[in-house]
Amino acid sequence: MSKDPRFDAGAMHEHEEDEAKKDPRRLGRKRMFDEFECPTCSAHNPFTEFGDNDEVTCGYCGAYFIVKITDEGDLTLREG
Ligand SMILES: [Zn+2]
Repeated sequence: MSKDPRFDAGAMHEHEEDEAKKDPRRLGRKRMFDEFECPTCSAHNPFTEFGDNDEVTCGYCGAYFIVKITDEGDLTLREG
């Protein structure tokens, strides 16, 4: 049985994710987050994965933000 090429692609992707976990800032603006701290009420919000220019809503106070990732891979939120 020949190897499924999709499997190899998936394995490579997984490897890249591992590398990114070691040093997520190397991704810069491509870095993805799955949680954020609300600047308005300071609540910690687990969220579906989001990145630069995505929109997030605080589950506690309902505030709405546009995500901005800096070139250094830092998460910032702008009120939307
Ligand atoms: Zn909030």
